[in-house]
Amino acid sequence: LVEARRLALSFGQTPALRSATLAAAAGEIVAVMGPSGSGKSTLLHCLAGILVPDAGEVWFDGRRVDTLTEEARSTLRRDRFGFVFQFGQLVPELTAEENVALPLLLGGTRRPAALREARDWLARLGLDGLEGRRSGELSGGQAQRVALARGLVAKPRVIFADEPTGALDSLTGEQVMDLLVTHAREQGTTVILVTHEARVAAYADRQVIVTDGRVDALTLDGALS
Ligand code: ATP
Ligand code: MG
Repeated sequence: LVEARRLALSFGQTPALRSATLAAAAGEIVAVMGPSGSGKSTLLHCLAGILVPDAGEVWFDGRRVDTLTEEARSTLRRDRFGFVFQFGQLVPELTAEENVALPLLLGGTRRPAALREARDWLARLGLDGLEGRRSGELSGGQAQRVALARGLVAKPRVIFADEPTGALDSLTGEQVMDLLVTHAREQGTTVILVTHEARVAAYADRQVIVTDGRVDALTLDGALS
């Protein structure tokens, strides 16, 4: 469904990706691991059409992504992709339900329907009663579940999750992963999950490791293949 072919990308003199190749099938959950600075976030941003690689190709659903205009890529992100980041990145001025409703509102859903849907998702993620809170009034785990609801609400084809449990203790992290995986499976959503933690990566169907801007499969014994 989503594929990066031999991507190269440098920030100035710093090469972040050197021939990175990764594909995920529809409904597949892929964990991307690897050391800090190895290019995991950059790869995710290229797959999601946020960054454009210097070389190589990005494909989504049979369409070339990296050659699209900025505007077409942003439409693609809005209509097909969901995002969950390490620190939730909720809009602090908005309530939990308004944050979750955002992707729907941007997609043209009218406010009452969007807020109703947002409240449904908050309830599904165990957050009923917190609809009116702002992010400063939520615990880290609650804020991350709100961010997860926002990532899921528009029924994206692909969820890009960059260290979604990175700011959480391990128990809260596991709760967030359980919810992410349960709902992604239910909706057949593809998930590209960047994580440092082997326990988090274990939720995925498949693990790959990024080293020096390249992608290798990670076998069960941890050896590179
Ligand atoms: P981490 O696990 O710490 O999040 P990562 O694997 O996600 O690391 P990237 O963020 O993809 O790593 O960065 C890959 C390389 O590109 C690093 O050397 C980083 O310093 C560099 N880099 C990333 N983003 C930028 C940027 N906006 N400007 C300049 N250099 C960048
Ligand atoms: Mg990163």
